[in-house]
Amino acid sequence: MRFVDEWRDPEAARGLARRIAERVTRPWRIMEVCGGQTHALVRFGIDRLLPEAVTLLHGPGCPVCVTPTATLDAALAIARRPEVVLCTYGDMLRVPGTERTLADAKTAGADVRIVYSTLDALALAESLPDREVVFLAVGFETTAPGVAIAVAQAEIRKIVNFSAIVAHVRVPPALEAILAGPERVVDGFLAAGHVCAVMGTAEYAPIAARHRVPIVVTGFEPLDLLDGILACVTQLEEGRHEVENRYARAVRDEGNRAAREAVLRVFEPVDRTWRGLGDIPHSGLALRAAYRRFDALERFAPQVGASRDAPECIAGAVLVGKARPTDCPAFGKACTPDHPLGATMVSSEGACAAYHRYRSVG
Ligand code: SF4
Repeated sequence: MRFVDEWRDPEAARGLARRIAERVTRPWRIMEVCGGQTHALVRFGIDRLLPEAVTLLHGPGCPVCVTPTATLDAALAIARRPEVVLCTYGDMLRVPGTERTLADAKTAGADVRIVYSTLDALALAESLPDREVVFLAVGFETTAPGVAIAVAQAEIRKIVNFSAIVAHVRVPPALEAILAGPERVVDGFLAAGHVCAVMGTAEYAPIAARHRVPIVVTGFEPLDLLDGILACVTQLEEGRHEVENRYARAVRDEGNRAAREAVLRVFEPVDRTWRGLGDIPHSGLALRAAYRRFDALERFAPQVGASRDAPECIAGAVLVGKARPTDCPAFGKACTPDHPLGATMVSSEGACAAYHRYRSVG
């Protein structure tokens, strides 16, 4: 397959792994931020190609996984309203809320629908003027532009029966939170290429400088990842801590200006709670005052009690690199993709799902 096969060449991969081994003189811990990268690393066995001194840690880059249970509970409460059609991406249907999932709610009669883009939800709102169409918007800077454009379109086209539960999160504050903890577990980051394709790389420079940590922008294919790891290890061995773009075929330092401007026009940064990381200042996006009438949480003011996760689930520790999925006693036993106890076993980008799919249990 053109443009993919050349990034999966086994001989080239072994060559990069050899160069990493030659470069390493001491242990280093490198965190890949993105769940898509986690899946590729586990799927292609890249962690097993690396020298023992290089430990890969899986980060919080799965948007479904870091969405807190309280947000799911609010979405469930809104979905129960008879006038509401609740739309979201497919993965979100199976993420456990405190008592149930959106799929359970659908089975019980709620009008919950999977859409592939926010604009599909907007079109649904136009076609169903007597219903309230609510989009559950999760994701990083990659999906935020689409939601921003849909909200701006709703404003222009006066579509009053559309609103969104905005649960978007931003990557840079999460990196700060991971580095700021008392026990620092990360020496270098592989930053997610698609996030940087939208937002550019400027936000990462102060983090690299402040925490003296290399941040290497990396793609998603095996050679992208190995090349990123080699660049990160090289910086660490040379005592450098720079933002380095190794995904230049997709990422420009300034990002995608149109997408960035759409996000900035509609959203503003707010403090947000992450599963696993807790409250992180300025780590979320919320609708600006001019667009707040499209905020479903303000429109419906859902009443929810205290949210709870499954007590045996250690997804919070998995999401910050402090535990591996296989450290969880429920992994592959009480918790499987068919009966997930936590979001990291549901999502196509979740670390637990990746280990379950590509690594034998036990
Ligand atoms: S295996 Fe299941 S219960 Fe364990 S951390 Fe992962 S999602 Fe949670």
